[in-house]
Amino acid sequence: MVTLLDGTIIAQALREKLKTRVEKLLRPPTLSIIQVGSDPASTVYVKNQKLKGEEIGIDTKIHQFNEITEVDLIHFISNELKNDDAIIVQLPLPKSIRTQKIISMIRPDQDVDGLHFINVGRRRLGYVEDVFWPCTPLACIEILNYYNIEIEGKHAVIVGRSNLVGRPLATFLEQRNATITQCHSRSKPLSKYTVQGDILIAAIGKARIITSDMVKEEAIVIDVGMNRDEKGKLCGDVDFKKVKEKCSFITPVPGGIGPITVMELFDNTVLASERKQN
Ligand code: NAP
Repeated sequence: MVTLLDGTIIAQALREKLKTRVEKLLRPPTLSIIQVGSDPASTVYVKNQKLKGEEIGIDTKIHQFNEITEVDLIHFISNELKNDDAIIVQLPLPKSIRTQKIISMIRPDQDVDGLHFINVGRRRLGYVEDVFWPCTPLACIEILNYYNIEIEGKHAVIVGRSNLVGRPLATFLEQRNATITQCHSRSKPLSKYTVQGDILIAAIGKARIITSDMVKEEAIVIDVGMNRDEKGKLCGDVDFKKVKEKCSFITPVPGGIGPITVMELFDNTVLASERKQN
């Protein structure tokens, strides 16, 4: 019998815990969200983040630029945002701006997306102090913890190797003593690897690409993907209807990793503020 891994109840519990932590601080945590351009989906997304942050008591500001040069953006981050607890940059940035250059201008202690090379390096070296993990890998671990799913000793197959999701997730699960296989677009045939996963995590960005024949019996399946299918319906990377007949645990999309990821951003923001204020 399959168990649905419900992200909404975990997100709700996290929100309540965060409110309590914020109340204990001397001043509200501050989060700046930088958006370059006016992509409608991004605009909705960042406005939503601001509202959710404010519900918790986080002073959230959106800095939206229709156009800005790389030099001016660096100047803005280094000068105007230097006192903020936390900064995130809505990606992707326009091609005229180097993403890594901008990320490296955010101080590691403000980098709540965990993308600064110092945060990446510290994580790889196994440091636990003063490190930020990106929010989606945190959400994956959170959901496994909440449902008491043992990670140690399992074979975790991760499909995707982005800096925001797949790569840090592999580091995280390896540090929790899983054995890792990391797949990507050149892993051929993909099913050869995915069928081996006791834990299978899909972070690809292709609607329902993981079909039931690619999944091990009784696997734990975490679907990070957020896609629109041909009918415009929100769906994951996993063919949920068929795969749920075969696996032991599965996250739905929507209602799985997504709601927890948002809370992990606020968790990192509150943590950044606590580190500064305490
Ligand atoms: P990304 O940067 O585009 O990375 C996608 C990864 O999937 C790449 O490593 C790519 O391989 C791999 N890939 C692409 N096609 C593949 C194929 N046919 N077979 C095997 N691997 C393939 O995307 P991302 O930022 O990691 O996001 C992945 C998905 O998660 C997206 O749907 C995104 O919307 C979603 N997401 C959801 C949340 C949430 O909160 N739920 C948060 C973040 C992202 P190469 O490296 O070889 O190109």
